[in-house]
Amino acid sequence: MDSLLITGTLALTVGGMMWFPFLRKKRKPRSLYLSAVHLLLEGRKEEALEKLKKTVTSDTENIPAYIQLGAIYRETGYPVRAAKIHRQLLVRGDLEEDERISILRHLVLDYKTSNTLDLAIETAEQLTQRDKKDIENKKLLLSLYEQKKDWDKAFFYRQGINKWLKQRDQGILALYKVMSGIRQVEEGAEREGRIRFREAIKLDKGCVPAYLNWGDSYRREGRIEDALKTWKDLTNRNPDWAHLAFDRLKDALYELGRYGEMEEIYQQVIQKKPETADAAIQYIELLRKQGRLDQAMDFCEQMIEKYPDSTPLRITQFQLLRKKGDSKEALDLGEKLLSRISTPGNLYDCSHCGYETSDPLWHCPGCHQWDTFLKN
Ligand SMILES: [Zn+2]
Repeated sequence: MDSLLITGTLALTVGGMMWFPFLRKKRKPRSLYLSAVHLLLEGRKEEALEKLKKTVTSDTENIPAYIQLGAIYRETGYPVRAAKIHRQLLVRGDLEEDERISILRHLVLDYKTSNTLDLAIETAEQLTQRDKKDIENKKLLLSLYEQKKDWDKAFFYRQGINKWLKQRDQGILALYKVMSGIRQVEEGAEREGRIRFREAIKLDKGCVPAYLNWGDSYRREGRIEDALKTWKDLTNRNPDWAHLAFDRLKDALYELGRYGEMEEIYQQVIQKKPETADAAIQYIELLRKQGRLDQAMDFCEQMIEKYPDSTPLRITQFQLLRKKGDSKEALDLGEKLLSRISTPGNLYDCSHCGYETSDPLWHCPGCHQWDTFLKN
């Protein structure tokens, strides 16, 4: 035992002495690389880049240095150059599995950043195949399919992620169905589109754009009763958003000569959601058009009593007073109204990033989050 130990120690010492000059030579790139990493941690990318370039010139086996070099190119606006570096690394036969996975992940980001979406997806598919357990890979792939507007694939992957994480987001899954349906009807496949709108509502009864688009599709095909039923379902199930169906319902009922049916629709919404002024104002407008001025006035005052701060109701009251010819009271009210008018804001804004819009949206153009728009 003893002699073995001594022989071993001797061998090590001899080996150390023999290899000493080589080790010293090797040390330089190592410390170069380390200082590059430190610079990176301090956010000094340009300086890190220079050190990394030198590192890989003198130590062509330093895979992490190549990976970082590529990453900096991508982050400083040269994703194509980054992709080239990362792609060339993949050709090496001696990569460890975790290195290969890291390179693939960077390559996906390079392609994503340079907008070569198909290559990004192809690479991300490879990555998820190799590294099935990593949920981040699946999320990356999902974001790529969203970017590509491939809603059926996005649906598939989001569903998979939800199952994996034991979470539910039926609202977003439903919106994918709507997006997919809109794509179908744009390509002339109305029926296919409607199937998706129906699936969306099955997933989420509160999916407002599904009702609107479903009804619109029926309307385009002349199935006006079916369209009416779909839009009425929206006003019943989602009275908060009923106002989005009002114009469609009015047009269709007017065409059928059944405009009067709007009264009942408004009343139902008012009953369900008295605090949203839209239905009340539309109802008052309807009464006014039918010449039932006193009834309109009574109802308006009744609503104002409940919601004295509602500017839209006050404006409606002002219009009624003018119509009645009560100019003194109208002027008083007008003055009060003007004093509290601020700049008219946008109607909807994203609860995630604050993006403002006058149209209702379900997919934020600012931060790409889903279903983040709240009605002001
Ligand atoms: Zn947003």
